Amino acid sequence: MTWGFETDAAYQEDLEWADELVRTEIEPVDQVIEHAWDVTDPVRNALIRPLQAKVRERRLWACHLGPELGGPGYGQLKLALLNEVLGHTHSGPVVFGNQAPDSGNGEILAHYGTPELKERYLQPLIENEIASCYSMTEPQGGSDPTAFVTRAVDDGDSWVISGEKWFSSHARFSAFFIVMAVTDPDAPRHKRASMFVVPADTPGIEIVRNVGVHGHEEDEGTHAYVRYHDVRIPKDHILGARGEGFAVAQTRLGGGRIHHAMRTVGLVRESIDMMLERAKSRKSGTGTLADRQLVQAMIADSWIEYQQFRLLVLQTAWKIDKYQDYKSVIADISAVKAAMPKVLSNVTARAIQLHGSLGISKELPLGTWSSEAHHMALADGATELHQMQVAKQLLKNAEPAPGLFPTRHKIALREAAERHLADRLASADDLVGAE
Ligand SMILES: Cc1cc2nc3c(=O)[nH]c(=O)nc-3n(C[C@H](O)[C@H](O)[C@H](O)COP(=O)(O)OP(=O)(O)OC[C@H]3O[C@@H](n4cnc5c(N)ncnc54)[C@H](O)[C@@H]3O)c2cc1C
Repeated sequence: MTWGFETDAAYQEDLEWADELVRTEIEPVDQVIEHAWDVTDPVRNALIRPLQAKVRERRLWACHLGPELGGPGYGQLKLALLNEVLGHTHSGPVVFGNQAPDSGNGEILAHYGTPELKERYLQPLIENEIASCYSMTEPQGGSDPTAFVTRAVDDGDSWVISGEKWFSSHARFSAFFIVMAVTDPDAPRHKRASMFVVPADTPGIEIVRNVGVHGHEEDEGTHAYVRYHDVRIPKDHILGARGEGFAVAQTRLGGGRIHHAMRTVGLVRESIDMMLERAKSRKSGTGTLADRQLVQAMIADSWIEYQQFRLLVLQTAWKIDKYQDYKSVIADISAVKAAMPKVLSNVTARAIQLHGSLGISKELPLGTWSSEAHHMALADGATELHQMQVAKQLLKNAEPAPGLFPTRHKIALREAAERHLADRLASADDLVGAE
């Protein structure tokens, strides 16, 4: 029997080292740079590159990767504990080399890229010399990928891509895009699309605009509305077999979803720590907010939700390590994904409330973190689709009741019990009669 909630001592030291780096170096960097993903920004590079070197030296670089790709191969559970430490920071994941969407895009390239594509893009991506973009959602269809219409046409020794994509995060920083496009419109619905690597400097790519999100300044948009105008790429830039785009997409989504959740654990924890500090600091009557029972209820509810969510994330990470198969943990990952926006939204809402007007101001990060809950409810699939996935997996193994009433119907259970225990009940009756 092995079952435990302890981190081994050596790794705990690593986590403490990471936490120290976050508090002393990464948090200050977050105050002065806008986009940790922008590898072309010299200020960002001057601040972030030396920290990345420290992380490499400590052997905590790219912990999501196995040794064959230059990571330590620690597995998902250890990664979860590390991501908790980084979760409330903007540049932490970049400093530790495990940032989305590059981590998921790297996984796709590692699985499906030709040796040439890997040499050109995968290695520099892992080293964070370049950034990447995942371009799948379209303006007219996100949740339902069978509504996608961006086409890739086979044209001799090239593919020619035309169409529009929406919310292609980090397109403006990227050296290449991974694009899903319809190659076989008449095939069965899930065999119509294929996945491609599109170098960012290919003629015909137009970034219509970088859509901004609430909580950021207008010119900070990083989610691109992209138009592909007859973008011609070499034939070998297809990832996986023709028509297998959906299967290829799954390679990145399992990991991507759980990695966001790991970081969200950290964000929730930080919000609770802010609540605790505020409750103890803010005077209320003769005491502080911490003395008010309704405030205590806010703190307690937040902590309970945090712990429930954290355990779900850690257990899912543990299962991924154990089974080494995302398909067998599909319900767990969807459960984590569906739980994530709710806990983040609940806890940040309480933290904002507890900080009063300061809470909703731009002078604290809580408003931004709260709106992250909306991001988390959409990115990598809307919450409702994940709720449906959880239910679908559970219902797979469920059977209908054999009769008119449920198997737990008390009348039927009582009758069955009386039949089953008839002899013993009769002897017991005899004993009662003898008394
Ligand atoms: C921060 C962020 C980053 C993103 N980054 C990327 C990226 O890098 N690349 C990329 O390709 N995309 C990206 N996306 C897009 C994301 O994948 C989509 O937002 C998501 O798939 C939902 O699609 P949609 O926005 O078109 O919403 P819609 O599909 O229009 O859905 C809207 C709502 O309708 C409801 N709904 C839809 N379908 C169902 C259903 N079957 N059952 C019940 N309810 C349903 C849900 O409430 C859902 O939220 C990102 C999104 C966000 C928020």
